[in-house]
Amino acid sequence: MGVVTKGCKLGCCSPEVAGLPNGGWSEDGLHLDGRRREHLRREWAATSARIDRMQADYPKCKLCGQSTLRLDAAGLCSKVTDAHKAYRVRLGIPAVPAPAPAARGRGGRR
Ligand SMILES: [Zn+2]
Ligand SMILES: [Zn+2]
Repeated sequence: MGVVTKGCKLGCCSPEVAGLPNGGWSEDGLHLDGRRREHLRREWAATSARIDRMQADYPKCKLCGQSTLRLDAAGLCSKVTDAHKAYRVRLGIPAVPAPAPAARGRGGRR
């Protein structure tokens, strides 16, 4: 027999279950084969863990805890709520963050 076809990559489904048409969903998409439930759960868990990891790499706003790609000079996200403005003003920087340096200049500014 040689090669054993593997089940799904998450390790929860037998080859037979992994090969179900529509991934185990009925044609109307309303019913899921019970043997695929664990798979969906694992898939969801893996996805949310990946999102968590991605967001963990981002700096967090000191004020609201929002993960953001770029913090401003005050260590805040780009929100301009009163709380964010007040925090910036207290640190002596503009209440509304200046545009990213890349947006300024670059030669062709009119
Ligand atoms: Zn599976
Ligand atoms: Zn914030």
